[in-house]
Amino acid sequence: MASETPSSFSNILIDWYGRHRRPLPWRDTTDPYAIWLSEIILQQTRVRQGLPYYLRFLEQYPTVFDLANAPEDEVLRLWQGLGYYSRARNLHFTAKQVVEQFNGEFPSTYRELLLLKGIGSYTAAAIASFAYKEPVAVLDGNVYRVLARVFGKHENIAAPASKKVFEELANTLIPATEPDTYNQAIMEFGAIQCTPVAPDCLFCPLQRTCFAFQNGLVNVLPVKEKAKSSRQRFFQYLVLQHQGKIYLRKRPGNDIWQSLYDFFSLETDTLHPSPEALQLEAAETLGIPPIPFSSTGKVYKHILSHQRISAQFYLISLPFRLREEKEESIGLRLYSVEEIEALPKPILIHSFLNEHFF
Ligand code: SF4
Repeated sequence: MASETPSSFSNILIDWYGRHRRPLPWRDTTDPYAIWLSEIILQQTRVRQGLPYYLRFLEQYPTVFDLANAPEDEVLRLWQGLGYYSRARNLHFTAKQVVEQFNGEFPSTYRELLLLKGIGSYTAAAIASFAYKEPVAVLDGNVYRVLARVFGKHENIAAPASKKVFEELANTLIPATEPDTYNQAIMEFGAIQCTPVAPDCLFCPLQRTCFAFQNGLVNVLPVKEKAKSSRQRFFQYLVLQHQGKIYLRKRPGNDIWQSLYDFFSLETDTLHPSPEALQLEAAETLGIPPIPFSSTGKVYKHILSHQRISAQFYLISLPFRLREEKEESIGLRLYSVEEIEALPKPILIHSFLNEHFF
């Protein structure tokens, strides 16, 4: 199966667009101010919700001078209901920037447009192509999806590093003659034909050469894997001492710090659990009568790639050894301070020992 050549790909999309495009007011203008307004309003906003705002803004502020001269409170009031108010403040700021630095004329190239506040690569490409016909490809979620599916791109679109790959591909596909129509077409195609869920593959003009369709990967592409969010954990370390020695255990392999040594610990949902509950749980797990103990007061923190650890330490002098079967089942052993110095330990444990024992 061959893939589309750039010209057949763009021709098919432009042809499709001519038959399926939705009539939206910002598509019938080459005024960079109106295009910019629509792009900022439509960021994080659905077309149906953004449309009345676009019309109201244009009516109230027909030119960039009107917007620049408006009081900020008024702009924010007109924006009310759209959310993400920093967009409105940026909009107002950029209008002033255009008036003061560019005499009210929007810059006419992609590179210069990027100098304006709140204008990133997507908006700059949209204005440069729609208003000035500069052949620079737009890249929004719709475009990523169409390109990943049609050309079989498996790069994770949520990873910043993938942007370059898609940007390069997109810029080889954009035609020099109708870059504005092509950019509109590919975004519209992603919005209504090649949708995230249940795309209309059956009646798709790209079906014959679409990699995802031909390989049964429509539900797999694009790959979008968000970076795992960092998990906050709270460790309560009980530093159990007996006759000048301290209990430590070698950490098992199914968690962080595999094979390093640390103290007996209980993991809790909060940094400061109820002391009574903690004492009861410790007594039960260790097989000893409940004994009162309190934290040394300092919180130790450590950040790993996907976890943030906060730990508290409790110094406990035991008048007896733990029962042998408990020592074994938990993996605890008594070590002298000298022996502990030589053991591999997480930095957090090392810091605590440094402050209290070494
Ligand atoms: S065949 Fe399906 S997946 Fe491929 S471009 Fe068309 S709608 Fe998208």
